[in-house]
Amino acid sequence: MKNEKTLVMIKPDGIQRSLMGEIIKRFERVGLKMVAAKMIVPTTEQIEKHYTLDPEWRRVTGEKTIKGYKDKGLEPPSEDPLEITAIILKNLKNYMSSGPVLAMIWQGVHSVKIVRKLVGGTEPFTSDVGTIRGDYVIDSYQLSDQDNRSIRNLVHASGSVEEANMEIEHWFKPEEIIDYRVVQEQVLYDPTVSGK
Ligand code: ADP
Ligand code: MG
Repeated sequence: MKNEKTLVMIKPDGIQRSLMGEIIKRFERVGLKMVAAKMIVPTTEQIEKHYTLDPEWRRVTGEKTIKGYKDKGLEPPSEDPLEITAIILKNLKNYMSSGPVLAMIWQGVHSVKIVRKLVGGTEPFTSDVGTIRGDYVIDSYQLSDQDNRSIRNLVHASGSVEEANMEIEHWFKPEEIIDYRVVQEQVLYDPTVSGK
């Protein structure tokens, strides 16, 4: 449990806006440990594979977009989730391969959910204040769809432990993942620690 890993990627907009340090700081300060990192310019094939590792992604993401529109009393561009994700995927391939990204693995207890909480909801317009997407960027489904592009939300984070395991295998070789200790782990996890 203490070794749960999640895949995080600082997207091209995060790099172009010089937000790498701010984003990394948020994962560090909560107590997570970085166990792998590399900068890459992804190919469109790598991006398509990344987003379709989970066979449910097309349906879930399409449904989330439709709900995002309806919650604001707006008409979604289509009622068919798969029609929506076909466009999203095409735009993601352009966006995510447009320049370098920083792929990282963060480790720690409940790392998948903790990182998602720190990252915030997909749409920066409605993601909570205090989250990375809520604090550092403005964008909405409406604007990105009107301009026929991806939502620019700075960072990708795995949505579940299963997704994290598939994504880690997709982006990293086992030997690129480093097993090491940091001193704070004793305070975070050692059950015998006391003030004496
Ligand atoms: P998340 O990154 O929060 O897990 P998804 O997996 O649902 O979100 O979608 C992947 C990425 O696709 C999002 O981070 C965003 O960049 C983009 N995206 C999702 N839905 C839309 C949409 N309706 N319009 C434009 N881009 C979208
Ligand atoms: Mg996702």
